[in-house]
Amino acid sequence: MSTLTTRTTCPYCGVGCGVNAVVENGAVSVAGDAAHPSNLGSLCSKGTALADTVGLDGRLLHPVVDGRRASWDDALDEVATRFGEIIAEHGPDAVAFYVSGQLLTEDYYVANKLMKGYIGSANIDTNSRLCMSSAVAGHKRAFGEDVVPGCYEDLEVADLVVLVGSNTAWCHPVVYQRIVAAQENDPNKKLVVIDPRRTATAEGADLHLPLAPGTDVHLFNGLLAFLAEHGFDGDLPGAQDAVAEARRMGGVAAVAAACGVGVETVQAFFELFAQTERTVTVFSQGVNQSSAGTDKVNAIINCHLLTDRIGKPGACPFSITGQPNAMGGREVGGLSSTLAGHMGFDAAERVQRFWRSPAIAHEPGLKAVELFEAIESGRVKAVWIMATNPLVSLPDADRAKRALDACEFVAVSDCMRHTDTVDRAHVLLPAAAWAEKSGTVTNSERIISRQRDFLPMPGEAKPDWWIVCEVARRMGFGAGFDFHSAAAIFREHAALTAYENDGERVLNLEGLADLSDADYDTLEPLRWPVYTIEALRAAGAMPARQDSRRLFGDGIYPTEDGKARLVAVTPRGPANPVSEQWPLALNTGRVRDHWHTMTRTAKSARLSAHIPEPFVEVHPDDAKRYGVIDGALATVSTALAEAHVRVIVTAGQREGALFVPMHWNDQFAAKARVGALANPAVCPISGEPEFKHTPAAIAPF
Ligand code: SF4
Repeated sequence: MSTLTTRTTCPYCGVGCGVNAVVENGAVSVAGDAAHPSNLGSLCSKGTALADTVGLDGRLLHPVVDGRRASWDDALDEVATRFGEIIAEHGPDAVAFYVSGQLLTEDYYVANKLMKGYIGSANIDTNSRLCMSSAVAGHKRAFGEDVVPGCYEDLEVADLVVLVGSNTAWCHPVVYQRIVAAQENDPNKKLVVIDPRRTATAEGADLHLPLAPGTDVHLFNGLLAFLAEHGFDGDLPGAQDAVAEARRMGGVAAVAAACGVGVETVQAFFELFAQTERTVTVFSQGVNQSSAGTDKVNAIINCHLLTDRIGKPGACPFSITGQPNAMGGREVGGLSSTLAGHMGFDAAERVQRFWRSPAIAHEPGLKAVELFEAIESGRVKAVWIMATNPLVSLPDADRAKRALDACEFVAVSDCMRHTDTVDRAHVLLPAAAWAEKSGTVTNSERIISRQRDFLPMPGEAKPDWWIVCEVARRMGFGAGFDFHSAAAIFREHAALTAYENDGERVLNLEGLADLSDADYDTLEPLRWPVYTIEALRAAGAMPARQDSRRLFGDGIYPTEDGKARLVAVTPRGPANPVSEQWPLALNTGRVRDHWHTMTRTAKSARLSAHIPEPFVEVHPDDAKRYGVIDGALATVSTALAEAHVRVIVTAGQREGALFVPMHWNDQFAAKARVGALANPAVCPISGEPEFKHTPAAIAPF
């Protein structure tokens, strides 16, 4: 009997749980890793069912060119040649990469290096644009850099946890479990949930504010004004303007009316916040996915800066990311709006010096929605999509489908043989999946963890970083991509974060730049920054603990004057308001047991059993008004498309709003691809789409 246990990391949400994967006589089982500081041994239903998802059914096992099986050489040559021809004829901005928070940091690093440093365009964007780019933009405005200042321990130490736009119980379950466990140990700890829906998370709250969709800035501006009235008068830059703008909201009654919440409830929340020194405000997609997403983020951060509740145990604003490596992608420049190592385009020459590259992008590239618009218009003529299924996940997804159909050249790296996106590729590149690939990811609390392989790569599958390096080599860029391991790429990434970084940026992995292969193999989870490997080792078995390295505890931020900034934000409604024709606000989001477009979780019968089919949640009064019946099918339509889904009538849904999950697509249920319904309005600062508010109608099917 042979048993092999491998410490790795869950590939689903941004909690980033440590997993012990056991292979015993060929059978796989998983358990939580008690030594991982983020989950301390816990896993949620998705993590627990990981072993159900590692089978090879549906896998892409060989390269494919124009629908026929091909050799790796032929497929890689085809990608390099087609990209090269289009760049030669139309310039570097005529090509693009669309990548994913599912990629490992090393994959992301080489993809970004190829596009920005060698092709010379910034047209690389990621599906992380769809979930947390508003947080990135908000952090930069407030702190000078995209830094999440908190950690999960803060949630346990806090006396008040405020969850905004986050169904944490379903979408970040292990974080929620840690909050609940801390509450059980300390009954005085309070939990406030701010969400239009009465979700599983709201059920467990001491106070629930079911605010009207899109009114987060109204609420947090109201809170800022209330705090200013009650003795908080921080002297940070921007404080006076932010408070003056916030005062325009009027008093508590006016705020309550604007948000559609009872005056007593708003008053209770404001008083609780004002009185509780140790407060953590967690925010997620309900805040970010909005045409005012960045302003919402800053409205929240403003309240923490005014009250000096940041950089202390149990006190911070805390963005929780959706994907397993959204943070790692942010660190290496996976967004078209940043360069690498948290540097902006003002540092282009510096990055080029480090890379010794033949080119460098000087301007931000196209953001996700713009990128697919540019493909549709023919401005972008070749795209390489890696580890994501944008024809399901993008807003106005039918338009994205038309764009790919019209695109001159589409390459897709994926581990599945058929998805809506894969089926439109000219070249398919079989990628290694979780359990087969090896590298690092960064979770929501800045902890870098190893994902380790414990199963062989099937068929001819290869790691994404290898595929990118081989294409780069064939494009004539071999010298910059002479990597033979993920460890070598990680070392270069770490060195770049430290390059000419005299404290200018918080992201600093200097201590990892000379990591040996052996140390990389055994790397323990650790939180950045990591200035020296000696300090890391001296910190002992739990170097990830926040206390030794609390960011912003000294009040110094990575801005020119070292100070954080409050940002005056003006409340505004959704980009497309409801109307007589489209009277309801369509909201989209996750369910507990499925992940993204279900290519993995649909393989698990126990996960699929939780909610077996797509649905729409409707308030009882709306159900009556529009003639739809609980348990029957309904048609949900918007100006863009329609879906046929099962009706759930529930008072937990706010009147005037609908909720449809994001996961199902044509592969799993006819006409349930909600991305096709969602309007493509975006935040003008972050480019994040407004998935939480599309004008819609509902009728019996
Ligand atoms: Fe995986 Fe997230 Fe569940 Fe942890 S909470 S096991 S990271 S899905």
